[in-house]
Amino acid sequence: MKAGIYIHVPFCAVKCPYCDFYSVRYSAAAVQEYADAVCRNLAALPAGLPADTLYFGGGTPSLLPVRHLAAMIDAAAKRCQLSADAEITLEANPLSATAEKLAQWRKTGINRLSLGVQSFDAEILHILGRKHSPEQALAAVHRAADAGFENLSADLILGLRQHTEALWARELETVCSLPVTHISPYLLKIEEDTPFGAQPPEILDDDDAAARWMQMHDTLTARGFRHYEISNFAKQGYESRHNSKYWRLAPYYGIGPAAHSCHDGKRFAVPRSLRDFCEAPVQPEEITEPQAETESERIMLGLRLAEGIRPDDLPESRERLLRNAAPLIPEFLEMQGDALRMTPRGWLLSNAVLTRLMM
Ligand code: SF4
Repeated sequence: MKAGIYIHVPFCAVKCPYCDFYSVRYSAAAVQEYADAVCRNLAALPAGLPADTLYFGGGTPSLLPVRHLAAMIDAAAKRCQLSADAEITLEANPLSATAEKLAQWRKTGINRLSLGVQSFDAEILHILGRKHSPEQALAAVHRAADAGFENLSADLILGLRQHTEALWARELETVCSLPVTHISPYLLKIEEDTPFGAQPPEILDDDDAAARWMQMHDTLTARGFRHYEISNFAKQGYESRHNSKYWRLAPYYGIGPAAHSCHDGKRFAVPRSLRDFCEAPVQPEEITEPQAETESERIMLGLRLAEGIRPDDLPESRERLLRNAAPLIPEFLEMQGDALRMTPRGWLLSNAVLTRLMM
C-alpha cells in the first residue's frame, strides 16, 4: 500500500479549552523557520517513496501563509513519487476559509478540506471557546463548496449537557443540509492538562451520550452517509484515504513537532517541541513501539472500520477471537461472510467489547 505523509502544523490563533493537541500561538517569525524545517524533513524522506496522501493537520494549518503550503507540497512532490490523484487535505478553521484563500488553496493542489465547524449553536460554540459564529461556520462551508471543494468534511463535537436530543437533531439536520461529503463527530473528552481539566463544563452522562450517539448513527446513515469508521461518516467514495492508512496499518510518515509515524513495522513520535524541531537538521524521533504490526493491533484497528477483520487472516488469534465473539453476537458483533465486525452498539462500547474479545 502507498504511504501517507502527515504534516503537523503546531500553530493556533487561540487555544481551545478542551484541546490537548500540541500547538503554540501563531507568530509570523516562527512560521518561516518552521516551514523551512518541514521542507528540510520532506527532502529527507526515502527518495522516490510512493505516496498517495498528504495531510496538513494541527494545530490550525489554515493559518499558514499559502506560499508555505505550496512550498511544502512542492517539496513532497520533488522527493516522493506522489500520485497524480493524491488526496491532499487541509484542516481549516471556518474563519480562515475566505474566498481568496480557498481559491489559492485549490491552486496549490489541495483537494480536500476538513472544516473545524464543531457546532452550529452559538451557546455550544461559546462554551467550547470557538471564535466563529454559527453563521460564519455555515458561510464557510458554502464558500468552500463554491470554490470547488467537493471532498469536504465537517467536524462536530458532542457531549456537553446542552446537547439535548432536540439540539442534536438540529445539529445533524443542519450538517446534512450542507454540501459536505464527510462528517467527523468527536465525543468530547475532558483531558487533564487543559482548562476543561481544571474547570470541566457540565457533560452528558453515559446513557445520554449513548442515546445521542445512536441518534447520530441513525440520522446520518438514513441521510446517505456511511458509518465507515467508529468516528467517521462519508458519502460513497469520500472516505478519508489518509486516515484509512492509520486503521489499515499502511505506512505513514509524520513531520513536525508531536507528529507520529508508522513504517517498517515500528511506530515513531517526534517530541512536542517546536524549538527542537526547527533547530534539528532532521527531526528527532523516538521509537514508541518496536512492533506495530501485531495481531492485537490489527484487531483493535480493524474493528474500528465497518468492514471489520477476517479472523482467517489472524492465525494466532483466530480461535480465541471466534470463541470470545460468540456471546457478543448479534448485539455487539456480527459475522458477515468471513468478516467479524462491530455493530453500532458494539462501537459504542468498543473498549469493553475489545477487552472481552482479547481475553
Ligand atoms: S481544537 Fe484546533 S484550533 Fe482549538 S486549540 Fe486545538 S488544534 Fe487549535
